[in-house]
Amino acid sequence: MTPRDYTIVGAGLVGSLLATLLAQAGCRVQVYEKRPDPRRAGFAGGRSINLALSERGIQALRGAGLAEQVLAQAVMMRGRMVHCRDGGMDLQAYGVDDHEVNWSVSRGGLNMQLLDAAEAAGARIDFGRALVDADFAAGTLTLADGDDARNVVAAGIVLGADGAGSALRAAMDRVEPLGERVEPLGHGYKELEIPAASTNPDSDFFERFSLEPYALHIWPRGRYMCIALPNNEGSFTVTLFLPKAGPGPNFAALTDARAARAFFQRDFADVLALMPGFDADFDEHPVGNLATLYLDRWHLAGKALLLGDAAHAIVPFHGQGMNAGFEDAAELAPLLAQADVDTATAFARFQAERKPNTDAIAAMALENYVEMRDAVVDPHYLQKRALAHALSTSEPRWLMPRYRLVTFTRLPYAWCLERGRAQNALLEELLQGHASADDVDLDAAIHTLKQRLPPLPA
Ligand code: FAD
Repeated sequence: MTPRDYTIVGAGLVGSLLATLLAQAGCRVQVYEKRPDPRRAGFAGGRSINLALSERGIQALRGAGLAEQVLAQAVMMRGRMVHCRDGGMDLQAYGVDDHEVNWSVSRGGLNMQLLDAAEAAGARIDFGRALVDADFAAGTLTLADGDDARNVVAAGIVLGADGAGSALRAAMDRVEPLGERVEPLGHGYKELEIPAASTNPDSDFFERFSLEPYALHIWPRGRYMCIALPNNEGSFTVTLFLPKAGPGPNFAALTDARAARAFFQRDFADVLALMPGFDADFDEHPVGNLATLYLDRWHLAGKALLLGDAAHAIVPFHGQGMNAGFEDAAELAPLLAQADVDTATAFARFQAERKPNTDAIAAMALENYVEMRDAVVDPHYLQKRALAHALSTSEPRWLMPRYRLVTFTRLPYAWCLERGRAQNALLEELLQGHASADDVDLDAAIHTLKQRLPPLPA
């Protein structure tokens, strides 16, 4: 094994992008993936599950020459379409124009595009081979195939992109504790589906959708919510986020589709009417767990490193888990592709640069749950948003709402968190004593803004 031979565990979104980037840079890459090849076996039971892709992820895909082909399959989302209890709707644009949009991409489709790209770049991917243990001193991995037959392979330097339940992380932790801490959110999620309004291949794009296609739909209901993201064939993937137990509606109380239907009839009647397969979906799809993973250390003696969800799984409310993992891959690949790479130094540098940022997005993702399920219909939040909009339109060099900093720039997440706090404190101060953003003297507010905060980086 030369220093530029890498073994990646996990060919999910992050592992397959990292494999592509390393192989394109001339490294020898071997990937082991637990599941069968989705290009042959089909993905996740054929269900359409989607994710929001934004600037950080797109930039990483650009680095691999893949952005254009991925975006060609994606649906643009210009903002949040908020569905109120009274049936009213409000489109809250994410950005100033169509340069600032999120993209709804199919998880399975994107993974398959990345697998093709990794193989085309020269990476070797073995499917149906799950890591069960690692001997870092001997440089070997123990893998299990579908029949649980074990074999030991030489591995050299190992990169763990095997997701939130990482087996590599467990193996590293057995050698030297990584300081793992998992904080469950106490809420779970269930995926449902609004089918395409028309399956006629000749139908116009808009005729395929039962709701506005170019938006992320939210039904905020205080302690819980539904969201829906469009798929380009006309369906929407709907996700219900709900406490797992406790007072008020919760998953433990929704024992079957009949109970769930009554709950939806009360809280989400309009979306229920669009889901003819609701009962089967509710009974068949599992309740997913939501948690934040923190580690003190992501690497082991220059021999192994974790990235993506294996290092820093977060809750999905900022739509940044994959984007952050793609940013990891884009920052790591050039470090590891250097001819004279010292992996211990490269791993330490990677963690030092990335961890403050992934801690920051973990915190912002938790805060965004409250914003999405509750604040988007709160009058004070809406006034603050209106004032931020007015200031950022007049002075784009001085104020950009935090959501836009995170989603449409590549400024470090930790910087966005700090700047967001300072901007929020200022907006609160400017709004004090005013019921409406329209009552605030905009010229005086701009003067205060420029006195208090430095301009945004160019
Ligand atoms: P994974 O996608 O989990 O991939 C891990 C891979 O490793 C899998 O292929 C798995 O089969 C394989 N593997 C596991 N164990 C082993 C083993 N022992 N041996 C070999 N292979 C193994 N992020 C966004 O950016 N935008 C969104 O809109 C968004 N929405 C989300 C919605 C929900 C409900 C959830 C739960 C997450 C969402 N995320 C979103 C987060 C995103 O899904 C993850 O951050 C992303 O999938 C992480 O990629 P990964 O490759 O690190 O891990």
